[in-house]
Amino acid sequence: MPDRLAHFPALAVACPTCQSPAGQLCTSHFGTRPRRSDVHQARTRAHAAAQPTTWLVTPQTINAVDDAVDAYGTYAKGYFEFVDGRTTVVGLRVGSGPDRVVARFGDTLVRHPNGRWSVRPAADQPDTETEATR
Ligand SMILES: [Zn+2]
Repeated sequence: MPDRLAHFPALAVACPTCQSPAGQLCTSHFGTRPRRSDVHQARTRAHAAAQPTTWLVTPQTINAVDDAVDAYGTYAKGYFEFVDGRTTVVGLRVGSGPDRVVARFGDTLVRHPNGRWSVRPAADQPDTETEATR
């Protein structure tokens, strides 16, 4: 008789507490009893830590996003273009050298769990993927 899997988002990662592999329910009592109503708290934390962190970059959020990027030890500064006869900030440049990324206003800056940065252009964002700036 197959277990009917409840869907917990944290099942995407293995559980550090009971060692249950990704995709399988947590277990109790030394692996003899599947936990159908919840997962271990450590698994929920492990799942959260594996999610990318995102920031919507706008003229209103750029300073807070800059501070958040700096807190990861990554250099960020305004990205400027020549607009209407003057140099104007149009987004945030993150990192330096060939790995740098530029998030223009309206884009979403993404920090992946492995420390890599990327940008989701404004045009590609489903509403559910945007988050408030932290
Ligand atoms: Zn577990």
